Amino acid sequence: MSAEIKLNDAQKTLVLEALRLSAPPSEAVTLSDEALWRRTSKNRLLGALGMATGVPAFPEVRSLVDPDFLRQAEPTLLASGQFVPLRREADRVLVAVANPWDHAADDYITSRFSECVPVKILTAISSISSVIEMMEGSTGPSRAELDAVVVEEYLAGLPDFDVTQRHEEPIAQLVAGMLAQAIRQHASDVHIKTEKNSFFYVFRVDGDLGLRVEMPMKLRDRVDAFLLNLMRLPPEERSKRPGISGRFTANYYGRAVGIRYERHRTYRGYHVTIRLLDKTHLEARLGMGNLAFDEATLFELEKAMAVPSGIIVMSGPTGSGKSTTLNAMLRQLNRPEDNILTLENPVEDEIPGVTHCDLKDSSEFKPMIASFMRSDPDIIFMGEVRDRESAELAIEAAITGHKVLTTIHTPRASQIIERFQQLGIERWKIAQTLKAACAQRLVKLLCPACRVPQPGVPEHDRRLFFLGDEWATTPVFEHRKEGCAQCHGRGYAGRTALLEILPITPQVGDTLAKGDLSPFEIERAIRRDTGLPSLRDNGLKLLASGKTDLEALRRVLDLTYQQ
Ligand SMILES: [Zn+2]
Repeated sequence: MSAEIKLNDAQKTLVLEALRLSAPPSEAVTLSDEALWRRTSKNRLLGALGMATGVPAFPEVRSLVDPDFLRQAEPTLLASGQFVPLRREADRVLVAVANPWDHAADDYITSRFSECVPVKILTAISSISSVIEMMEGSTGPSRAELDAVVVEEYLAGLPDFDVTQRHEEPIAQLVAGMLAQAIRQHASDVHIKTEKNSFFYVFRVDGDLGLRVEMPMKLRDRVDAFLLNLMRLPPEERSKRPGISGRFTANYYGRAVGIRYERHRTYRGYHVTIRLLDKTHLEARLGMGNLAFDEATLFELEKAMAVPSGIIVMSGPTGSGKSTTLNAMLRQLNRPEDNILTLENPVEDEIPGVTHCDLKDSSEFKPMIASFMRSDPDIIFMGEVRDRESAELAIEAAITGHKVLTTIHTPRASQIIERFQQLGIERWKIAQTLKAACAQRLVKLLCPACRVPQPGVPEHDRRLFFLGDEWATTPVFEHRKEGCAQCHGRGYAGRTALLEILPITPQVGDTLAKGDLSPFEIERAIRRDTGLPSLRDNGLKLLASGKTDLEALRRVLDLTYQQ
């Protein structure tokens, strides 16, 4: 992301000037420098950077690469990730740079190709690293190398584990290669498991577990010890405790990726879950990238955010991207004049200007919130409302004039109201404080390179999923089972968020407090009056636009009834 490049004040002023010139008139006139900067998408920032420096900007440069030329480049020089030479044409070398003011690329080209002139084009750091990744072969050691390992003492401490460097020690290289591959494929988790005759790891990508990668069984304890050592836990610990949690940081081409480690004992050994807290591939800005909600939903969300105090609740199952959306909201709400505190488990996305706190265990929740309330907060982000105590604390914070963002586990937005009631909160308190009830899902997107067109939805599926006759002739797409090289054989590439919102206006709050209507009836009334789309509506819209298929949709949404 362009935000990762370092600019001095003079350079920043130039880019801001260009941003203002290229922004829509409404934003250019009304927004402060800071708000303008914050609201700008990656591509617009890139464009502004190009405009300010006269270097042409390209969001994507992979198609410009000459692989043979790229292979001659020195990997160590490229590891900085700030530039990448793409191709040579006669006496010119095309080089992609992230920071047009940085001379490293010019120096590199002129020192290596004295007869050539560098021609610079501008692109995002993420685009540069994707080119560098492209030329990498397999980073793991061979099976023979692993079989030859002599099992002995565990390694000395590694505070920041560099997963893109070549390690001498085969176990280190095995774990580094596994993690680098997981980060590259945007995996959310890596599972390492032992079964009777099998020791393997497997990635979870876009919500699905992939193929198992087998490892030699005799390395089971060695891999375990290596991981424990990364978190500076002596191996004796594993026999003492049934469950072990920890953290470490992986260094991926100079970028720090937070990693949460969870290990528990199993009948045949252990099960380790490594969660990658790497959100850089998710464009966490409301209205953009993965969070490109429809205009009406986004507007209602912004309206709820503009209310000075009250609760905004995001619901959905685990892995539905609730915290990504709430973090994007925090980014938008983040102003120097507001004191923002978060209580999370774990902290996933650190925002400059926000005070993040992590919850070590659930007993800390109440004392932490109590301490928050004495810390003069304006906005509080509470990871999750899970019991009566946390529900009461959230409501109390909102009643006393704070803006509270939180999540709750319910499938539908209207069930948030029911859940609060079940947790013992009176209706009038919910009515007074709840400003927006939202539900979210992450749905897989079809790989655009290999999706398969279909003339319409077959009758059986139409009946099963309550789809009208018009779907018989609505052209849709399906994923290709065997996928292609671009999607690593999955048929899908990335996910997008679907969001439904129930704005609780004073009138709706009034109806809610009176208790004449059930939450579901209130939801129906809100939809009737506002025309706001439900999760189902948004999902079907995505299906009709060819971006997802019914298979991906039915996995995250109950489509078997009409809402
Ligand atoms: Zn594909």
